[in-house]
Amino acid sequence: MLTAEIICVGTELLMGQVLNTNEHFIASHLPEAGIALNHSSVVGDNPQRLKDALLLAKSRSDIIIMTGGLGPTDDDLTKETVAQVFGKKLVFHAECMDKMVSYLKESGKNLTKNNEKQAYLPEGSIVIENNNGTAPGCIIEDDGKAAIMLPGPPREMVPMFNETVLPYLKNKSGTVLYSRVLRLFGIGESRAAAMCDDLIKNQTNPTIAPYAKEGEVTFRVTASAENEATAKAMADETVSAMYERLGEYIYGEGDETSLAEVVVNELNKKKLTVSTAESCTGGLIGKMITEVSGASSVYGFGFVTYANEAKMQLVGVKHETLEKYGAVSEETAKEMAEGARRVSGSDIAVSVTGIAGPTGGTKEKPVGLVYIGISDKQGCEVFRFVQHGDRERVRNKSALCALDIIRRRIQYA
Ligand code: ATP
Repeated sequence: MLTAEIICVGTELLMGQVLNTNEHFIASHLPEAGIALNHSSVVGDNPQRLKDALLLAKSRSDIIIMTGGLGPTDDDLTKETVAQVFGKKLVFHAECMDKMVSYLKESGKNLTKNNEKQAYLPEGSIVIENNNGTAPGCIIEDDGKAAIMLPGPPREMVPMFNETVLPYLKNKSGTVLYSRVLRLFGIGESRAAAMCDDLIKNQTNPTIAPYAKEGEVTFRVTASAENEATAKAMADETVSAMYERLGEYIYGEGDETSLAEVVVNELNKKKLTVSTAESCTGGLIGKMITEVSGASSVYGFGFVTYANEAKMQLVGVKHETLEKYGAVSEETAKEMAEGARRVSGSDIAVSVTGIAGPTGGTKEKPVGLVYIGISDKQGCEVFRFVQHGDRERVRNKSALCALDIIRRRIQYA
């Protein structure tokens, strides 16, 4: 597989004045071109340090992708330095000059003497047209290596990368990568990895990359092959094996999916409605559900029952229940869920009551203790959790757990 390296040029990036979104953008698109990114760095506008970075990159990577430093001013030195490292002269491109003149004219600006510098490219360059600015990009190839130079401003760089660089890279690599992203909830990263230990240990192609974030685990399965159909078939086979091992925890697929989206879509598919009675999450489940387009046909009633009075008045929790068992109890969670379903007339109701902290915990009822109830026509069930972390994390995790309980109820009931 061809290897690539990204070098972003600009002192403003080093100083933290500008976020390096170019690196993130380029890095996220290299897999689909079948190119392995092995290194990435940022260099200030300094010719010697840029030269050092380029020499190192040239010695270890097949493709060097650079952004920034193509401007008209004296500190824009990318092309000059690349030309030096690759032993090329800079030559004048009349076509680039013409394009620049007409671009500036259309934008109502005048050509400056400095702009002329931008029409000089290393000899033998493949020109990358820039329709959103003056600086053309270029690619030079030498001795099996390639250097790709793109301007710094993302609104110029992104279209140039999509239109010219990506097809160039795909063609060069002759390899296509195909990925599937599995999203899991209710299981930790190490346990999930242990459950498909055999697949992970033997991986070469497809590769299986796990990572964890805020209460959930993601597995990215990536296969490389000479064409998309083959790569897809390879990834699909591994994914099937993962479903066999982890099926119930996998709530969806894709980078953009959320638990709430899966719940709303499933409810829509099955023509079911849901309501919520939330105490310690204070409406967070309702917020997550209503963030999804299509929520209105499945969600109509969300009760925020933070105080005992609200629990009694809005969803009919009995005074005796609160007196005897307390607001954070299995019994209260049950009555909250049943009451929300009764008052709203929804098919399913979910309730949350717990201690988000940092204060309010006792030995018997510690901070993080949360009861989640679910009620539907088959009855009511209450789950007990002890969540770890600060207030925000306890609330967030509890809302996600409630969504997962709804998902399991619809998918597996
Ligand atoms: P120009 O013709 O506009 O001078 P250039 O190729 O010389 O283009 P730079 O001068 O290096 O680009 O950067 C111009 C601006 O583009 C920066 O001030 C910054 O706002 C943005 N930029 C540069 N590099 C990046 C990057 N890696 N990520 C995000 N933005 C960037």
